[in-house]
Amino acid sequence: MKQRRPPQHFTIRYFPDACLRTKAKEVVEYGEPLRQLVARMTAVLKQQKHGIGIAAPQLGIDQAVAIVDVSSRMPQKKPLILINPKVISGDGLIPSKEGCMSVPDYTGLLQRYRAVNLRWRNLEGALMSNSYEGLEAVCIQHEVDHLNGILFIDRIASLKRDLIPRSPKRG
Ligand code: ZN
Repeated sequence: MKQRRPPQHFTIRYFPDACLRTKAKEVVEYGEPLRQLVARMTAVLKQQKHGIGIAAPQLGIDQAVAIVDVSSRMPQKKPLILINPKVISGDGLIPSKEGCMSVPDYTGLLQRYRAVNLRWRNLEGALMSNSYEGLEAVCIQHEVDHLNGILFIDRIASLKRDLIPRSPKRG
């Protein structure tokens, strides 16, 4: 299927772009601009074959907004729209093999909490909290890291052992 090239403001920022290293600002206004940002992020995420999450800094926008959508792998799950998300606590550690739209040439092996308690605001600004585990928990941690200027490559123990080049042929 032919894909139209996205307009400039839809473009993913790639490592080592400085916007990926900036701590995102807390969202304070809940209105149409926020909805439009979430719609743009959703559109970009849907274009990605293996994408299960996206954070606003990946589009060069320093707002604490992230989307986690594991429904392509777990059809019963709904997308999470996370405004100002905070991981309140984590439990257990599991190995995680991760990739990132902003670091397209590598995957990495690292450790994440198996389960997390998360607090965030929804699109209307209401305070929310819930606990998540497994893939959803891992993806949440990856996206919250983005909002703090942290990439998965920062969390791998050994660049030599745990950073794996993707095959150049892979889409
Ligand atoms: Zn990422």
